[in-house]
This record gives sequence, C-alpha cells and structure tokens, in this order.
Amino acid sequence: MQHPDPDPVFSPVQRRFPAGLVPGLCATLLLGACGGSSSDSAVAAVADTQCAQVTDSGSVVVGSGLPGDPGAPEPASGYRAKNLVSAKTYMVITANPYASRAGCEVLKKGGSAVDAAVAVQMVLGLVEPQSSGLGGGAFMLHFDAKTKKVESYDGRETAPAAATPDYLRTISDSNTAPPLPVLTAPESGASFNLLRQSGRSIGTPGAVRMLDVAYKDHGSLPWKDLFTEASTLASNGFPISGRMAAAIDGAKVLLQTDPEAAAYFLNADGSARVLGSIIKNPAYAATLNTLASSGANALYTGAIAQNIVNKIKMTSGGSPSFAITPGLTELSDLANYQAKKRDPVCTSYRSYWVCGMGAPSSGGITVAQALGILENFYLTGYQPTSLDINGGKPTVMGLHLVSEAERLAYADRNKYIADTDFVALPGGSAAALLDKSYLRSRANLIDFSKSMGTASAGVFASPAVGSSATEGKGTTHMTIVDKQGNVVVMTTTIESGMGSFRMTNGFLLNNQLTDFSVLSTDAGGAIANSVAANKRPRSSMAPTLVFKLNADGSMGDFLLGTGSPGGATIIQYVVKTLVGVLDWGLNAQQATSLVDFGAANSATTNVGGEHPNVNNSTPAGGLAGGNDALVTGLRALGHTVSVNAQSSGISTIVKTSSGVLEGGADPRREGLALGDSFKP
Ligand code: GLU
Repeated sequence: MQHPDPDPVFSPVQRRFPAGLVPGLCATLLLGACGGSSSDSAVAAVADTQCAQVTDSGSVVVGSGLPGDPGAPEPASGYRAKNLVSAKTYMVITANPYASRAGCEVLKKGGSAVDAAVAVQMVLGLVEPQSSGLGGGAFMLHFDAKTKKVESYDGRETAPAAATPDYLRTISDSNTAPPLPVLTAPESGASFNLLRQSGRSIGTPGAVRMLDVAYKDHGSLPWKDLFTEASTLASNGFPISGRMAAAIDGAKVLLQTDPEAAAYFLNADGSARVLGSIIKNPAYAATLNTLASSGANALYTGAIAQNIVNKIKMTSGGSPSFAITPGLTELSDLANYQAKKRDPVCTSYRSYWVCGMGAPSSGGITVAQALGILENFYLTGYQPTSLDINGGKPTVMGLHLVSEAERLAYADRNKYIADTDFVALPGGSAAALLDKSYLRSRANLIDFSKSMGTASAGVFASPAVGSSATEGKGTTHMTIVDKQGNVVVMTTTIESGMGSFRMTNGFLLNNQLTDFSVLSTDAGGAIANSVAANKRPRSSMAPTLVFKLNADGSMGDFLLGTGSPGGATIIQYVVKTLVGVLDWGLNAQQATSLVDFGAANSATTNVGGEHPNVNNSTPAGGLAGGNDALVTGLRALGHTVSVNAQSSGISTIVKTSSGVLEGGADPRREGLALGDSFKP
C-alpha cells in the first residue's frame, strides 16, 4: 500500500528564531536601525565573528591557540556532538578547521565559491593528506546565482593509455600472476596481494585540472592568492590532527613502501608521527608556489609531472626491499588529461529539484533513483522520534523503506553505471533509469513487512552486463556558499586512506584505479566498470544540490548543498541527509548528525553504532545491537543489521526561507562550519 504525501512546509527559520530576532533582517540593523533592541548582543557579535567559531562565551579563531580553538588537535573520536552554525551570507564547511578557515578568508574577501574551493583543497592536501590532494581526483557541482545554472565538473582520474582490460588482474599477457607486491602476513605467514600498493592502482590525477577549469569559469580573486594560506601553513608547520595521526599510525608499515612517504609521515625509527606534533612540508609549499605562479599546467607537464610518472613506475620499494609491478603511465597521460564538464543529473523529488553528479560517478543517478522510489511512500509519517541535536531516533519503518529503496537503486548502479564515454547507460542517458513510472514499478517491489534482502537490477533492452561493486575509503567533502549566493559542493579523493602510499613533491598519489572491476567479465557478461585505456573508474561520490521546485516544474531557489566521503556508502549518507531535511524537517546539523543508516544491495542494513542514539551493546547470547528497539525491529522485518561504526563526513548547508545559511558539520569527523556567523 502506498500513501499520498502532503508536501512538508519548509521554513526552519521560523522554528529556530523567535519573532523580532530574524538574523537575515538584523544584518541591516548593524547600520543602526537595530540599536537598543534586545537583540543587540547577537547582532553586535556579527561584525567580529567572521570566519571565527561563535560560542556562547565569544568567538574563537582557528589556530589561535586560545581555549576552545577548533584547530587544536583532539584525538580522533567516533562521535562528537556539534551545534548548528548560522551565517548571514556566506559559509564554508570542510572536514578540517584549517581548511575551513582558508576557505572562509577567501569568501570574506569577496572571493567566489570556486576560489574558496581552490584554497580549501590546497589546505586539505596538507592537513588531511590521507583523504584528498593534488595527487587525486574530484567531482564538483556549481550553482551560479546569477544565471541560475547548475554545472558539474569531472576531475576523475583516468587509466593510462597503455591500460588493457587485465591491467589490474595480471602483470602482463605473458605473466598472468597478479601485480606485485605479494606480501606475507607476519602472524599467519599467508601471502596476499595488495593491489593498491602496486603501480597499477594509480590513476592520472584530475583534481587540480578540474579546479583550473572551474576557476576559469567562476574564479574571481587572483589564482595565485588562493595558495598563500596553504603554502604558509606548509612552511611554518601545523599540528597533526587526531584523524591524520590515526591514519598515519594505521598505515605505518605500508607507508614504508616509498622512502619519501616514510620520511614525511614517520619518525626515523619507523614509528608514526603523533597527534599534536608540528609537521612541516616544505616540498608541498614549493609545489604550491609553483602552481600559484605557473598555473595548473605545472602539475601536468615539466618536473612535477615527471616526478609523478617516476613514482608510478617504481619497480621496488620497502625496507627490506620488495618488487613492485610498475604502472604504465607516461608523461603524455598527464599532458593529455582533461577535466570534463558534464550534464548534471537533475530530477524532481516531491516539491524539490535535486541535482547530482553524473557518470563516471554513480552518485547522482543512484541517489536520484532512491529518492524516486521513496517518492511513492509517505515518508513524513515515519520521522525520527525523541528529536535532539543528533537527529533523534529513526523509526523502524522509516529506515526499512529507505534501505529497501537503496537496495533497488544499488542493484541498477552495480550493473549499469560506468564511464559513459565508454559504456552507454540503458536507453543512452540517465532518463530511463530515472523514469518516474519505472521507479514506481521498483517501489512496488517493496514489502512493508519484509526486507527483500538482495534486489535484482531492472531489465532494460541493452546488452547484458555483469555487476561490480568495488570501492574503498579515503575521501572528503566541502560545501561552500559565497556572498553572491553561488554554491560549490565538491567531493575529493585519493580513494583509500593514504592512497597508494607514494608521495612526490609533498603530496600522496591516489589508488583510484582500484575502483574499477578487476575482472572484465562475469557470468552476466561484460562488466561495465572494467578497465580500458583512458577510462575513468566508476565512483560513488555524490555532491548534491537541492532547489525548490517552482509551480511550473522548473528549478527554483537554492535550498541545500551536501555530500560525504565513505566509498560506496556515500550514497546512503547523502540519501539519509536529504530525507532528513526534505521529509523529516530536520535542520542541517540534525540531518548531518542523524544516525547513518541504509543498505547497499545485500541483506545487510547499516545502523551506525557510533551514534549516541544507537545502543550497540550485545545482550548475553544475542547479537550486537540486540538491546536497541530500532535494531530488533529491523531484524523482525528480516534485515541483517550491522551496528558497526559508520564514518561519514557530511557537510550540509541549508538556506532557510529567511535567507539564513544554516550549516552542519559531521560529528564523526573534524569538520567545521565557518562564515559571517552569528549566535541566534
Ligand atoms: N573512491 C571512492 C569513490 O570514488 C570514494 C572513496 C571514499 O569515499 O573513501 O567513490
């Protein structure tokens, strides 16, 4: 049985601000008209708090060393509750306080959202090197407030021109052993092959070229000025954060693969550099200075490009030394690399217009499919209970419906979505997969009383293709709104934490090609996401923009920007955030904080056990989570529930109906929202 859905009335500012204290209006009161009112203290603070974190007792600047400094390193933790941040006209949220500060300073000067994205990426490559950087790739969506146009930019890494379908599977046609190294586990003595350590995992980096293309379209401050903050920080040093310290410690053996990476991340005795210690990266500062003065080409030609190629072609590494299968990347691969502007994937969802990233990312289509299926259900009736700043407690039926819709969407994703420059989608575009009547037929497969476990992909008149569902974790997301109202959502990655463990010129190289299927065929036929020369591996990254839907069905005002890291689970993190805001009326922080839940196409349903509102304890003789009514309720519907900790890194900005920007940074990471903030 399906229910009609009355569109929710969306006006968070009315919920949050008492009458007479609407910050969007008080911006003008700063000029005098607000004098003497009871809202003075909140308003007066606005002028002083730009790009500082506003707290009950005042404002604190990142890196100031003052009490409450958000840049002061704390241990990586599972979950640290965060408060909603409000700003008047501009805001940036990234996964690291230093990166947020850099982006915010650009916005404060009147820089564009794309300017800020460049500055943020340069700092992230330094302070969160395990997740993204100059050696990786990215996807960006941009909303131009003047032309009302959404554009998407594809900076995905490519396989080298010499890659063949077996590039990841065998050393060569004549030597069918898997790419080296083959390592021996110290405890068991078993040998295993870690593909990401071989040169074959490394794709031609795309993030810098993508930023260059987006900057040429939407930049406003001088390019060279966007590197200053990161270059200064790299020269002067910065304190290692909790997550960076944990990432180094977790990879301290594998970082020995490359002496350059080991020298930077490890102490002379091979131990990991620790939380809070000051680390300098002069090589990175030099690279940034070169990019600042010579432009993005400096990464794709010349000495830096040669160093990248040399690192990909390494034939041995480690101490004691072991053999490594080199990648086949040449200087020409870098010189020929192109970031691509692609059509964003946009579709209506109830009274909203949702835009995401198209192929080679599966993010946009899969999020839109899940929403299109959910549109057939009255989700508003299943909103979380016991609402708090952490998003409350999801209901069994809310979670059941969302995770079933995701199973169906992932089934199509795994089978049909890959780099569309090589493999066409069914019907030749995203339209067939997003067709409303097709999605209604998929929704009809959902049973209110029982999980479907594993879904089958929809049937289309296109060649049969086998499925693949690979992907790792090591990514970050930023959401930015500038003073003009332009918006950037950008997810950026080196694939797994610490990428391929190789470093050159102060940055790590990605292992993004492991997002391809190692096999090129399976029982279902040719696999869409198999390797080919110059092809881009399928991604799950899902930077997302939401707008209101005008009565005539056209795109209305900007409402929301979000995205997350998390490998293939990104899609679940983004869907729960969108449903949280659009269907359940949560604010940006609540939706971001809300329990991470959902399912890929398997019997397992995730319910993030790191969340304070989930009881992940194990009853005697029972299963983990067996003391939690949400978990047991799902199990009663046949879900195999995992309460493993989830590690989303969601950054969400919502523009309220009064024009206030509300930001939520993920409590599971070190992120921070900054802007022309005020304490409502
Ligand atoms: N490489 C993955 C992708 O492109 C992202 C990995 C992650 O989020 O950690 O979808």
